Amino acid sequence: MKISQAMDFATQCIHAGQHPEKVTGAVMTPVFQTSTYAQTSPSQHKGYEYSRTHNPTRTALEESLKALEHAQFAFCFASGCAATSILMLGLNPGDHVIALDDLYGGTRRLFTKVFERFGIKYTFLDLSKQELLAQAITKQTKMIWVESPSNPLLKLVDIKAVSNKAKEHNILVVVDNTFATPALQNPLLLGADIVVHSTTKYIGGHSDVVGGAIMTSNPMWAEKIAFLSNSIGAIPAPWDCFLTLRGIKTLALRMKQHCENASFIYQNLRKHPQINRVYFPFDPEHPQYVLAQSQMKGSSGMISFVIEGNEIQAKKVCENTRLFTCAESLGGVESLIEHPSSMTHASIAKESRHAIGIDDALIRLSVGIEDKNDLWLDLKQAIEK
Ligand code: PLP
Repeated sequence: MKISQAMDFATQCIHAGQHPEKVTGAVMTPVFQTSTYAQTSPSQHKGYEYSRTHNPTRTALEESLKALEHAQFAFCFASGCAATSILMLGLNPGDHVIALDDLYGGTRRLFTKVFERFGIKYTFLDLSKQELLAQAITKQTKMIWVESPSNPLLKLVDIKAVSNKAKEHNILVVVDNTFATPALQNPLLLGADIVVHSTTKYIGGHSDVVGGAIMTSNPMWAEKIAFLSNSIGAIPAPWDCFLTLRGIKTLALRMKQHCENASFIYQNLRKHPQINRVYFPFDPEHPQYVLAQSQMKGSSGMISFVIEGNEIQAKKVCENTRLFTCAESLGGVESLIEHPSSMTHASIAKESRHAIGIDDALIRLSVGIEDKNDLWLDLKQAIEK
């Protein structure tokens, strides 16, 4: 039976692109820990020459991701930032990128502190306000960089509307789909050209591997990415591909639980007198609640909130939880808590952070798949301590 894109997502997570290994019949793709491959005669090989270019464990992961994101091509990298860098290297000096203002701090750092030095120009915009986009487009604009939901304020961008506008000007739309995952949102089906992931997060799902991926159905960009990937060599190791692939098998199941638990925690936070503001796209008071319901199938496990008080109180909450571990990153089975101003977004200048709306008393949660009551009791005691 062919595993087609018509199959349910949960089935695809387990089967898409996966075949028993040809020699032994091993059901799980083995870790092909090899750098090179025997050739019967010069240039006569079985599709694999050297592992910077291709590796069978990586191919299996790419086949899986390709199916999940409804793409014709997928490429895996050593990290999400490596994947982002490859896309930037596909541009030329003088090219202009319009990017969401509320981006993962490391992506913004890469843009402003690395690629600006090579002549790429960036405009950071609140892309949740559609009307701002048209004014920012210039003749040099080659790419629109979207993160939706954004990190850490969980703003949404209307991917379909942005893609339609971009098409009028022949501009490429890239969506960082790390927070939503293909379980909850499919940017290519909404008109975007490229999807990028930090597979370190929900895709891997167990906080034990760092990785990145790019998916597209644009043949010209696929050729560019393949060339850049092979030339630069920021590829993941076979063992990391194996771990990521293993994580994907439970992606559908995990995302259901992340959504359920996050929704429960959000409802409790919203009622708590010491919480000033909660950021959660499926909150009926979220300015893009209607968009959330049409663009996404669920919230994922991400919630941000502002505690009454200041940075000191926010840091204390992060210190006092027992089940929520105070740590960077997100998307693992275990719950994490962090303080964006001093952790994930510390690389952004304070004035820019405040301009975007990242309050010093903001806390970000990655709600895991533990028992939701245990999680709330832990968070509650830390807030009230
Ligand atoms: N994109 C988002 C939304 C992220 O949160 C991160 C990391 O936190 C990245 C990209 C970068 O990924 P990596 O840490 O795998 O390089």
